Amino acid sequence: MINKNDIIEKAYECGFGDIGFTTADSFDSQRELLQKRQKEYEWAFKMGLDLIAGTDPKQIFPEAKTIIVLMEVYFKETYPSSMENYFGRCYLDDDRIIKDRLSKRVKAFRSFLKEHGINSKVPFNLPHRLAAARAGMGTFGKNCLFYSNKVVSQGSWVLPIAVIVDHEFSPGDPTLEVGCPDWCKSTCLIACPTGALKGSCKIDPTQCISFLTYYGKGITPMALREPMGLWVYGCDHCQNVCPRNAPWLAKELPINKKVAAMAEDFKLNKLLHMDKAYFNSRIWPHMFYMSDKDLWRWKMNIARAMGNSRDDAYFPDLLTAFQNNEDERVLGMMAWAMGRIGGAKAKKALSDLLHGREGLVREEILFALEKS
Ligand code: SF4
Ligand code: SF4
Repeated sequence: MINKNDIIEKAYECGFGDIGFTTADSFDSQRELLQKRQKEYEWAFKMGLDLIAGTDPKQIFPEAKTIIVLMEVYFKETYPSSMENYFGRCYLDDDRIIKDRLSKRVKAFRSFLKEHGINSKVPFNLPHRLAAARAGMGTFGKNCLFYSNKVVSQGSWVLPIAVIVDHEFSPGDPTLEVGCPDWCKSTCLIACPTGALKGSCKIDPTQCISFLTYYGKGITPMALREPMGLWVYGCDHCQNVCPRNAPWLAKELPINKKVAAMAEDFKLNKLLHMDKAYFNSRIWPHMFYMSDKDLWRWKMNIARAMGNSRDDAYFPDLLTAFQNNEDERVLGMMAWAMGRIGGAKAKKALSDLLHGREGLVREEILFALEKS
């Protein structure tokens, strides 16, 4: 039978930055919170992610005795700025569909356990950050993110992976506290562009840009378009402004070559014009929260980001795409974006585009004309 040290050694051998152990007790405070705030989390339940069931490891795996937490660093290497300014870093090297990197390492770790008679489960709905804090691996930021004690210069660029096992191992001492210095005057709370952070460790997920980029309904409300800035999928703003992350952000990291090789495919103009075939072969395997039925949302997000760039080099793309699209949510945002870029060219084009338009698209063009 292997012991705790053998497991720790194996975790490092599999490339994880840290490992911790906690009991398989239920996460009662998290259950209470989710029950109280069901409305804010109903999107997760609708997607089949039963977060309440995830608060009781024994409901998921009746033989559960321990939760082993593996700490994955998703920002070991840097990404091209043409990508990290628009896409959350944690999505840039995500292999949950392709399963050729992190998934292989988790599998190797679990196979090692299995070979030594330890059964395991890796449920998505378990509160993994809370499990990591209960295992004593780090603390929370007021932005609700988990900050490692050990890796990425004690920053938040980590993904704790909770592995439930059917063997008992001595747990770490919990560090369930907020680890922010007093002198940081809640920079993240002030900086959150959409006001999603409501207080220390209190987020309304439905107001977070990440949520809005992949689950937002209908055309993005006017009041959110400018605050959502350049983000197309995800948002790292509250991590980028955090002084706890400054040491890691100051490091000169090597470039992630695999992601850099995808930069051309992820250029905004290519995404604005993409069809389902392009999306399914080049984009979806990396960013899969939206299916090809949601291509309209991708395009709406791209148009908004182009508008907020105020870069008139995007103007011809927006104009061509307007003529080739039918979805009124996309057309409305393209008109808004042209108005936001502004200038005489935009005014003339928007006046021409108004011809024969009705309803939402007409309203958006008229608004854009006023602003341009
Ligand atoms: S910005 Fe300040 S308050 Fe927010 S997580 Fe970072 S240190 Fe904590
Ligand atoms: S990810 Fe962006 S929108 Fe969400 S809480 Fe952080 S700063 Fe706000």
